[in-house]
Amino acid sequence: MDCPFCGCEMHTGEVRGEMMISVEKDTGIFWCRSDRTKLQKIFDADKRLLTDNKNILGYRIPAHYCSKCKKVILDAEVEDLV
Ligand SMILES: [Zn+2]
Repeated sequence: MDCPFCGCEMHTGEVRGEMMISVEKDTGIFWCRSDRTKLQKIFDADKRLLTDNKNILGYRIPAHYCSKCKKVILDAEVEDLV
């Protein structure tokens, strides 16, 4: 998939809610490329790790990431959006 912002090819992978097994033992939302197994941290605009909410464990959704624009695109449906 090409990035709609810059036109570059995006990385295909998943957005996951996981606990990273590392020295830091971070819990949050991570990115994993489809051709790799390594989880990579996702930060918000203020450089905070997206989220420390433990209820998101096990969450996985296919997504595309543009490393140039720092954008993630995924399919979503929001229930009862008013
Ligand atoms: Zn882009």
